[in-house]
Amino acid sequence: MRALTYHGKKDVRVDTHPDPEIVNPRDAIIRVTSTAICGSDLHLYDGVIPGVLSGDILGHEFMGEVVETGSGSTLKKGQRVVVPFTIACGTCFFCDKHQYSACDNSNPVDKREISETLYGQPMSGLFGYSHMTGGYPGGQAEYVRVPYSDVGPIVIENDDLEDEQVLFLSDILPTGWMAAENAQIEPGDTVAVWGAGPVGLFAAQSAKLMNAARVIVIDHYPHRLELAAGLGCETINFHDVDVREALNEMTGGIGPDAVIDAVGMEAHGFAVDNMLDIAKQTVGMGADRASALKQALLAVRKGGRVSIPGVYGGMTDKFPLGALMEKGLKIGTGQTHVQKYTKKLLAMIEEGKIDTTFLISHRLPLEQAADGYANFRNKQNDWTKVVLKPGT
Ligand SMILES: [Zn+2]
Ligand SMILES: [Zn+2]
Repeated sequence: MRALTYHGKKDVRVDTHPDPEIVNPRDAIIRVTSTAICGSDLHLYDGVIPGVLSGDILGHEFMGEVVETGSGSTLKKGQRVVVPFTIACGTCFFCDKHQYSACDNSNPVDKREISETLYGQPMSGLFGYSHMTGGYPGGQAEYVRVPYSDVGPIVIENDDLEDEQVLFLSDILPTGWMAAENAQIEPGDTVAVWGAGPVGLFAAQSAKLMNAARVIVIDHYPHRLELAAGLGCETINFHDVDVREALNEMTGGIGPDAVIDAVGMEAHGFAVDNMLDIAKQTVGMGADRASALKQALLAVRKGGRVSIPGVYGGMTDKFPLGALMEKGLKIGTGQTHVQKYTKKLLAMIEEGKIDTTFLISHRLPLEQAADGYANFRNKQNDWTKVVLKPGT
C-alpha cells in the first residue's frame, strides 16, 4: 500500500509499505477514504517531537471502510467508521473514568520509557505520532490497522453524511469541544482564543454553542481571522495591536473570563524570551516556545479559567507561575478523550448545529501529501486544512 512516510526533518514522502494485518483479536483493518493533515503533524514534520523514526507512517485523523475484522472486533466489513486518534482499551482504570487519552494499555511496555521519564507516567497510544506514543502506523495511508476496534471507531450509519462532514470527529472537533469544556464556560462569558487554526476555530465555535456571549480570536493570518469572524467572533491581529491592551479595553479593564491556548509549543511571537526559546529549540535543547500561553495567563481575568488544547511536549522557560497562583486561575488541559465526545458531536452534526466543512481549504490525492505538508506549514494564511484522498 501507499503511505505518507517520515524520512527526517521537513522530509516526508509517499512510499510503498506492506499492507497491515490483523495482529490482535480486537483489531480491524480500515481502507482509508479520507484523512487530514493536523497542525500537530507539523510538530513531527518540524522535528520537535522525540521518538519519530525514518520509515514511520504519519497521520492520526482518518476514516474509511472496514475491510477486515479480528474475532474480538464488534465492527462489520463494509461499515463506514471514523477513528479517534487516541487509542484506548476501554476497560482500564482510566478508560473506566472516560479518560481515554490516559489509557494505560494502549502504549506497549517497550515504548513507554521516553514519556515516563519526561512526564512521570507513560502516555497512551496515538496513531502515527512517534514511538513515544506507541509507534503505531498512522492513517495517511491506503490502509491502517485499528487496535481495540470494539471501543474507538464510531460507525457512520447515515449515508447522506459526506466524509468531510464527519472526518474531524477523529480529532480536531472533539479537541475544540473539550478545549471549550475545559474553559468551564458559563452563559454570558467572554472567551479569548489564541490561534485561529483548526482547533482554535472549533474551540471558538464550541464556546459559542456553550452560550459564551463574546468570543475573541487572536492570530496574525488575515484569512484565518476572517473564518473566525464568519463564526460570529471578534478578532485581534497581534501584528497590529498589543493583545493584552486590546483585551483589557474590550473587557472594561477586567480581562476575559476564560482563555484558550490553541497554539502550543511552536508559538510565533516577538518577545525576548520567545526568541530565546526558539534558539534553544533550534539547537536541540528542547524548550517549548509558549508565548501564547504566557500572554494568555497575563491577560485572563483574576479567578479566570485557562484551557490548553495546544500541544506541548517538553519544558518551557520563564513560565509566569506567579500569575497562575496570585490570580487564582484554574487550568484544564490534556490530549483529547475523543471517545467520550464522538456520539454527542455526531448527533450535533446531524442536527445541523455544527458544520466543520468551512475549514477545508485543500483536497489532494494521497500521492501529493508531501506538498500538502509543505504548503500547510509555509502558507498558513490560505492553507487552513488539507484533506487527503488515498486511492485517487
Ligand atoms: Zn490532529
Ligand atoms: Zn484503557
